[in-house]
Order: sequence, then structure tokens, then C-alpha cells
Amino acid sequence: MNCKEAEKKIPAFLNDELDGSDLAEFVEHIEECPECKEELSIQFLVTEGMEQLEQGNNFNLQEALVKTLDSADDRIRVNRVLRNVLLWLEIAVAVAIVAAVVIVSM
Ligand SMILES: [Zn+2]
Repeated sequence: MNCKEAEKKIPAFLNDELDGSDLAEFVEHIEECPECKEELSIQFLVTEGMEQLEQGNNFNLQEALVKTLDSADDRIRVNRVLRNVLLWLEIAVAVAIVAAVVIVSM
């Protein structure tokens, strides 16, 4: 899978619509490609964040992303990859929170 294909599949991954070899190839590419990993982090933040805010929920992104990654984890054995992605997402969440605080305080 190349970057173009992987990027196209990010929304499907976030909607839990990838299966079998699609999911395996996608996760494999994400593991090897920092650019796509970053893109996944950003799209996850945007998608989940907006949904949470629209629902008026507390911004419990941490829990949401753990759930998303765990459900993919159930279907294929990619613990190491997912922990790796999770770490990236945590960094992205931290950056997003800092950015939000900076924007609010301006
Ligand atoms: Zn890529």
C-alpha cells in the first residue's frame, strides 16, 4: 500500500469500516510511514473531537482513541503497531490541548 492509498483509507479506518487484508495493510503502512501516522493522528483528533463536542460530551479523547484502537486490535494481532500509533495519538492530543489553551488565552 502506498501513501495515497493509505491516506484514502484513513476515514474508513476511523469509521471502523476496514476489514481483513485492507485493515492489515493499512496498519502495516501506518507503522512504517511517519507521514501517514501523523495524518491519522490529525484526522482522528478532528473526527473524534468534533463528534464529542457536538454531543456536548466532556472532551474524553483519550478514552475514545483507546476504544478505536482496541476494536481494530480485536480483529488482527497488531499490538505493537497499535501501541505505537497510540503513543503518537497521545502526543497529538497533548499538542492539540496546548494549542487550544494558547488559542483561548490569546
Ligand atoms: Zn505513507
